[in-house]
Amino acid sequence: MRGHDMLRALNLAGINDSGCRMREYVGNLHMHTTTSDGHGTHDDVANAAIRAGLDFIVVTDHNTLPTEFEGYYYRGFQRVLRIIGEEVHDVERVPERSHLLIYGTEEDLSAYADRPQVLLREVRKREGLSFLAHPRDCGVPRFDQPELSWGDWEVEGYTGIEIWNFMTSFKCLLRSRAHAAFYGLFPSRIRRGPEKSLLERWDRLLGSGKRIVAIGNADAHALPVQLGPLRRTIFPYEWLFKAVNTHVLLDEPLSGEASEDRMRLLAAVGGGRCFVGYDLPASTRGFMFSAHAEHGNAIMGDRLRYRLGATLQVSTPQIAKIRIIREGRVVREWPATQHGVHSIGEPGAYRVEAALRRTGAAAIPWIYSNPIYVEHG
Ligand SMILES: [Zn+2]
Ligand SMILES: [Zn+2]
Repeated sequence: MRGHDMLRALNLAGINDSGCRMREYVGNLHMHTTTSDGHGTHDDVANAAIRAGLDFIVVTDHNTLPTEFEGYYYRGFQRVLRIIGEEVHDVERVPERSHLLIYGTEEDLSAYADRPQVLLREVRKREGLSFLAHPRDCGVPRFDQPELSWGDWEVEGYTGIEIWNFMTSFKCLLRSRAHAAFYGLFPSRIRRGPEKSLLERWDRLLGSGKRIVAIGNADAHALPVQLGPLRRTIFPYEWLFKAVNTHVLLDEPLSGEASEDRMRLLAAVGGGRCFVGYDLPASTRGFMFSAHAEHGNAIMGDRLRYRLGATLQVSTPQIAKIRIIREGRVVREWPATQHGVHSIGEPGAYRVEAALRRTGAAAIPWIYSNPIYVEHG
């Protein structure tokens, strides 16, 4: 096998140019504790994350940044890296809109909440990351749940968007009390993926030449609710941490040193070296989307230059319906496969969606990759 072919074959298995296997770390980057409107403490969420098998979490309480909780949290020999971010929004705004997730800044920026563009600039100044939270949300007036969509699409300079917020998926299904009781009692029946209009907007932004990173999260609060005669916590932290997560790819394993690991994970998220996986119906660990050209290889988030042509490769941990999408257009679809290879000759932002096939039922939304930015020249 020639060196170049060998690299291609290795990369299919998620192995980087220096011959090391890419390391995959699973995290959840949107949750609330008793520091704001969640019902568990910082230690409760860390313990739940360990039980759920997560490698890291980012706690994002509203308009506050209690960094004293940051670092590795241990339970016996198990650990989870706890990163502290925040979810900033203008509490005076009516109707309430435009929640922004902020990671990697050392100070609370909620003083800028009423000026979204200034807020984004302040995040950048501190080399932080910013993600539009639940940008396409559903309001449920009968349960006093306001619609919390993003309301300031003219702003520039954000890192990305939260394409899948599990609480939005739930809210958008609540057409009646019966629906609320059903999905509250049987949450695994929630099979609503990212909102279609949001994916369309993401594709339009990518088509305009922007780099927009996608993440997917729980937005966990562990709220106790009354369901008829039952009072129970709907969506406990541990359950939600087994649902929609962001899987991050690193060249080297985490070191165990909290500030270094935090920096590397956030850099990979900011660079789009990650994908969104719905791990409840089946684990999405092991998914890979890569691209290969004459002089290089790329994974999600990367740029790849080609002269004659490039090849895209997808592999999923289970047989799935796989689609490659270029800026809103499906360029290749496999109804049921685990590995796909597709040659391209057109530049653009290519991303992958995979759905689980279930006989006699609609496909379950499962994996949403970040794009590979393919350039000619
Ligand atoms: Zn929010
Ligand atoms: Zn939130």
